Amino acid sequence: MPYLDHAASSPLRPSARAAWLEAAAVVGNPSATHASGREARRLLEDARESIATSLGADPAEVLLTSGGTEADNLAVLGAVRASRPLSSIPDDDATVPALVTSAIEHPAVLEAARLLEGEGFGVAYAPARPSGQVDALALGDAVGEGTALVSLMWANNETGVIQPVSAAVTAAGEAGAIAHSDAVQAIGHLPFHFHESDLDLASISGHKVGAPVGTGALLARRGVALRAIGAGGGQERGIRSGTVDVAGAAALAAALAEAVAVREEEAARLRLLRGRIEEALAATPGARITGAELAENQRLPHLTHAVIEGLRAEALLFALDRAGLSASAGSACRAGVHQPSHVVLAMGGSEEEAGATLRCSLGWTTTEADVEALIGALPTAIERARAAGTRR
Ligand code: PLP
Repeated sequence: MPYLDHAASSPLRPSARAAWLEAAAVVGNPSATHASGREARRLLEDARESIATSLGADPAEVLLTSGGTEADNLAVLGAVRASRPLSSIPDDDATVPALVTSAIEHPAVLEAARLLEGEGFGVAYAPARPSGQVDALALGDAVGEGTALVSLMWANNETGVIQPVSAAVTAAGEAGAIAHSDAVQAIGHLPFHFHESDLDLASISGHKVGAPVGTGALLARRGVALRAIGAGGGQERGIRSGTVDVAGAAALAAALAEAVAVREEEAARLRLLRGRIEEALAATPGARITGAELAENQRLPHLTHAVIEGLRAEALLFALDRAGLSASAGSACRAGVHQPSHVVLAMGGSEEEAGATLRCSLGWTTTEADVEALIGALPTAIERARAAGTRR
């Protein structure tokens, strides 16, 4: 069954499954000092080293988490809260925001930002252009002395548009702020080297690269100030308490190593397949591919996003599902109804456009036949969805 939703969750890689099964057979808490604990610790540290190598980081910079959401929460809440003494009340009237981020971030960043606003911290959200790129000048202008964190995603999960992260790093550096990027959608699809990026923090999610759901990491440079967001036994440099999931770490290491090793040839293969889908979309009246005007190196190679006039996303997805195809609107779905995309709205789109999106994301299991099946099914699916109307 053609599965074109790798950006939501990519199937488990056999290498990750094998690594998980092998590590899961080892008993022992990696914090225990007996032989079993030491064996678990050895597996954990081997996995950490492999993850670090795949991402251009040092092993000590890899903080294992339960996924991208926790990594984003830790980065955003942890860095901003650490910038003020516990007893001090943030200044509501501060003209310089403590957090500068963008309006198109994943909810894992945006909702954490809202929590900070509730605590009295100032937050600035840089707008995006119609192309899907965050306005780097507006982002830089919002940063000032007193800004604790600049957080900008590497590539947007709905549109696949690559963001001006190096401009964010520069702006943060000039203000003495910490620089974070949610790199969840970039890993395994774009070149990524933590040290070369000059970021202080980067978020990674396992299930976007073929590791199990519930695995991930926050890469954190040594010395970066983070306040823990949970209390407990002080594992993971005291920042992320809880017994570490050794089998999950081993599986994450295996999936990342494979994704990074084959990245270049896979990107070329998937870019060609994506091109076929985009040819079909370009020939569809009323369909507009997001970021089509951008250079090839400003978009993820495996993801295409379009606004298709005259329909609602859920009707189109329903019609595709009936044809045996799994795709996405890209935006959040609550009780089977797609919410208008906050990303499309932030790019200047209308409510109607924000509810009429299609995202197809390819990955390691995608075949030519999958793409042909989509192209074959699209015209009828669009026709059916249009016949169903645009009203909620
Ligand atoms: N950040 C981005 C850009 C994502 O696309 C996602 C998942 O869709 C997340 C964060 C959250 O990752 P996880 O599902 O591992 O919590």
